[in-house]
Amino acid sequence: MMPPEFGATPWGRAWVRTVESTSTAGPNAQLPKARTLARNSTTVVAAGAGHVEADVTVSGEVCRVRLDLPVWSDETQAEAGRLVAKAMAEHRGMVAGDLPDTLEEDLRDHAINIAVPLEEQPGSCSCRARKRPCVHILAVIYALAQLVDERPALAVELRSATANAAGAGAGAVDWIALSELEPAGFYGD
Ligand SMILES: [Zn+2]
Repeated sequence: MMPPEFGATPWGRAWVRTVESTSTAGPNAQLPKARTLARNSTTVVAAGAGHVEADVTVSGEVCRVRLDLPVWSDETQAEAGRLVAKAMAEHRGMVAGDLPDTLEEDLRDHAINIAVPLEEQPGSCSCRARKRPCVHILAVIYALAQLVDERPALAVELRSATANAAGAGAGAVDWIALSELEPAGFYGD
C-alpha cells in the first residue's frame, strides 16, 4: 500500500488530523481544494519555534499565511527532551532529522501534543475570505504535515522555545543538539 501523500508518518498525521478530524458538521468541504493548493501552490517560507509562514498562490495572487503555535511550557519541554533523548538512545543511527515513530506514541502517552488544533491556533491569512480557517490556511497545514513527514524533528522544533530555554533538566544536552539543527534542509536541497 502506498503511504498517504499527507501524513505518511505519525508526525505528519498528527497535523493532518487537526484539519480532518470529523465533527458533527462532517468533513470540511474545502479540504480537497486545500490539498490541491498544498500540492501545487504552497511555499513554506519559514517554519520554526512557534511559527510557520507560507505563501499560497491562487490565480497569480499570493495569500500570505501565518500560523502562531503555542510553544510547550518549560516543564513540558523538559519532559519531551527526556523522551527524545531516551528514544534517540534506543534508536541509534537514525538519519539526521528523523525521529522514531515510537517517540510520537510516547509523547502522546505523556499527554504532550505535537500538533495544535485549529481552535487553539486559528492562523491568519491575507485573503479576503470571511470564512476561517480559509482554504489557504488549510493548505498550509497540509504542506506543513508533508514537511514534518520528511523531517519529523521539525514537529518537535515547532513546539519548542529557543534552545537556551530548554532548562537544565536531564537530557537537556541532547535536547539542545536537536533544536539547534539548522532548518536549511526543509526544502529538500
Ligand atoms: Zn486565505
